[in-house]
Amino acid sequence: MPKSLPKSKRSKDDVLKELRELRTEDARWKDGRTFSLVYYVDDEHSRLLKEAYGEFMAENGLSPMAFPSLRRMESEVVSMAAGLFHGDDDVVGTMTTGGTESIMMAVKTAREWARNEKGIARPEIIAPLSVHPAFEKAAHYFDIEIRHAATGPDLRVDLQDVERLITPNTAMLVGSAPPYPHGVMDPIVELAALAQSRGLLCHVDACLGGFFLPFAKKLGRDIPPFDFSVPGVTTISADLHKYGYAAKGASLVLHRNRELRRHQFYTYSEWPGGLYVSPSMTGTRPGGAIAAAWAVMHYLGEEGYLDHARRVLATTDKLIAGINAIPGLRVLGKPHVGVFAFASDSLNVYELADAMEACGWKLDRQQNPPALHCMITPAHERIADTLLKDLRELSSRLAAGEPAPEGSAAMYGMVGAIPDRKQVDGFLMDFLDGMFDRG
Ligand SMILES: *Cc1c(COP(=O)(O)O)cnc(C)c1O
Repeated sequence: MPKSLPKSKRSKDDVLKELRELRTEDARWKDGRTFSLVYYVDDEHSRLLKEAYGEFMAENGLSPMAFPSLRRMESEVVSMAAGLFHGDDDVVGTMTTGGTESIMMAVKTAREWARNEKGIARPEIIAPLSVHPAFEKAAHYFDIEIRHAATGPDLRVDLQDVERLITPNTAMLVGSAPPYPHGVMDPIVELAALAQSRGLLCHVDACLGGFFLPFAKKLGRDIPPFDFSVPGVTTISADLHKYGYAAKGASLVLHRNRELRRHQFYTYSEWPGGLYVSPSMTGTRPGGAIAAAWAVMHYLGEEGYLDHARRVLATTDKLIAGINAIPGLRVLGKPHVGVFAFASDSLNVYELADAMEACGWKLDRQQNPPALHCMITPAHERIADTLLKDLRELSSRLAAGEPAPEGSAAMYGMVGAIPDRKQVDGFLMDFLDGMFDRG
């Protein structure tokens, strides 16, 4: 039976109390034992985001005419990001609700560009195996082909393989700065040069690194160029709601110039409801997310972003060195931001994750190869030593033959062994179907 709407009204306090109580079984991100999904700094920071978001919660960024306030904030956010990414006066952009939407807009741009300017009926894009699934999703939604380039032993995309995959239908090459699974940047300079020499677009997915790499570089880290300073880079995606420390629902897609961005936009002039224009996927665009992003960039400034990057890098260095010192564990590749993965040649890392989970740690499981993932924020500074201590102790117990507690290791092992990935997709579909059951 479907639930019915409550018959009568309730007090605000009563409803909010029940709302907060729904949280009890949620991932506890504030104490730093979760490593994805939430980029938490501290309560003062969260209050700024809430107030800025709340201030513009009702406003809608869909109409550029009705709210000059939002238009101004968006254009300032785009401009600050363009500056951060070494863009010149031609660089333009749009705020979106997230990395996936930014990526979809870059892929749509490539499709329209290929069709309209190159006469390619069935455009293709080439992306590394490590690229974010948002590109697969975009290819699926926009019905274009995505060809996957192999990654080398250093986890970066293999340029020879990219070159091999280029056809007369290729519209765009994609690289990540860095990809989510291992945090190791693709060779953007070389990739963009290849794109340029073949007359192709080149997208850099800096969803994860966009608001981190420039500050890491300022702090003296060896960060290869990845932005508009690189000839041949045509679009960049960068998430404000990750290391931009903004509220959820804020990302950017930037274009080398206005001509390119026109391929992203959508207009419709025959609707009885009026002339319709929309810069991105969504219709209504939440004003709160735009306001919170604008506010956090002014609140932190370069000084604040540098502070956070310094703390994240120090914690990451400590964890990487500590994990590499644990017998059997090793960090994969040479990560550039606060994101990395570690694997094992002697232990089942899925069992290690189950053992860690029994101690209150939530580490994301990865595959090809099996690995555990860490995404470090300033909130993880306090837990680094405990994390290393628990990892050391639990992996030595597993190595000694102690069984891991019941968890998801068996499921991961089984799924990993199924050669027919279509069958796995079927399981995932059932899982999703079950997760979004009616309450
Ligand atoms: C998170 C991420 C995305 C997708 O961003 P969403 O905001 O989750 O849609 C894309 N690319 C990379 C590298 C990411 O880390």
